[in-house]
Amino acid sequence: MRLRKTAQRTPIILVVDDTPANLTLMRNILEPESYKVLLATSGEKALELLTKITPDLIMLDIMMPGIDGFETLARLKKIPSAKDIPVIFVTAKNAVNDVVRGFELGAVDYITKPIHRLEALARTRAHLKIQHLIHVERMQSEQIRAIINNISDCVLVSNKNGAIESVNPATEHLFGYVEDVLCHKNIAELLNYQGRPTDFINVLLNHDSDDPWWQHPSGKAANGKTFPIEINVREMYTHDPCFVIVIQDISLHRHEIDQLHHLSETDPLTNINNRRHFEILLTQSWQHCKRSNQMISMLFIDVDHFKSFNDKYGHQAGDSCLQAIATALSTALSRGVDSVSRYGGEEFVVILPDTDKAGAQTVAKTMLKAIEQLNIPHQHSTFGYVTISVGIATCDYDADHTRIKSANALLKLADKALYDAKALGRNRFECL
Ligand SMILES: [Mg+2]
Repeated sequence: MRLRKTAQRTPIILVVDDTPANLTLMRNILEPESYKVLLATSGEKALELLTKITPDLIMLDIMMPGIDGFETLARLKKIPSAKDIPVIFVTAKNAVNDVVRGFELGAVDYITKPIHRLEALARTRAHLKIQHLIHVERMQSEQIRAIINNISDCVLVSNKNGAIESVNPATEHLFGYVEDVLCHKNIAELLNYQGRPTDFINVLLNHDSDDPWWQHPSGKAANGKTFPIEINVREMYTHDPCFVIVIQDISLHRHEIDQLHHLSETDPLTNINNRRHFEILLTQSWQHCKRSNQMISMLFIDVDHFKSFNDKYGHQAGDSCLQAIATALSTALSRGVDSVSRYGGEEFVVILPDTDKAGAQTVAKTMLKAIEQLNIPHQHSTFGYVTISVGIATCDYDADHTRIKSANALLKLADKALYDAKALGRNRFECL
């Protein structure tokens, strides 16, 4: 980012001298060099002028009636808008004491009378140049400070041991501490680092480090809450090594990603896995079972006479019925690796990794019972309430891989078993 350049304008020089001939001389030296020259015949007049105008340089005579040059200088140093203007003494005296006193009062230089044109110009140019550079540097650091104070990212400066030296307002806001408190902390404490605090800067500088901290970079606020962060650390090459640390809270971003992820995997009606996610789970489970030579079972479930349920009780009741069934089926699964998904309409599928036929039958029985216990009235069912039919397919990869060649073949087999369960009277399971 380029900082804004400060506009160059014609420098203004204020010349203060009680002798009109000296004023004229200085004007004749300075004006041809394109400086704007203001004249004052006394210290009092100069001070009055300084309340209205801010010159870039002041040439100040020492010996003057009324307040002399020293007093004028002492007073102008008390005017906020004038105190930083460079002052060059112009004096006939070059006694060491006067020169020392002038510098002590804050003058930047002195020239002696009689005035030599080239010397006066050289000193004027040199001090205007210095003044300009100071001004540019001040403007730039003000611009940088304004940017740092107003950005939403946290900016911290720490020493090589991680001791915090300064922070911007965003850091105070995010972590819930004021700057004074933060400046007594170590960055390791704010970022929840469990290792030795003095090692932390090196961990931060080394993105590829296998330090466990990098698995979940997070910050910890005053209220104890932790949040995911993105972090950037850079060493500043000053005489004392220090580090600029920029931190962004990415909770919102992470939350949005999690939400999108959840939406893409979830059936909106029943809040269980959708078919798309089921297909991913099935491929994963099949690969895993193949690799580790485990058995895998699958249940294909259909709600009995669901079309007539909808016709009789309406689609809203139908939706509630599917929601209740989805919840009951999920509750019937006790292991984390098992999953139930809505396959479509009133069909559900269950994947049971590392499960043999007997295990799958136990799950099917539990599910049939759970649906019975829902006791949802259904006039068009021979049972008088809503029931399900379950088809079970089990694959022992070693023994069955010629019969069941793929995850899809397993699914088809479970569907076929479901067809048998329907044919044999519903509210039951069949295995293949
Ligand atoms: Mg004088």
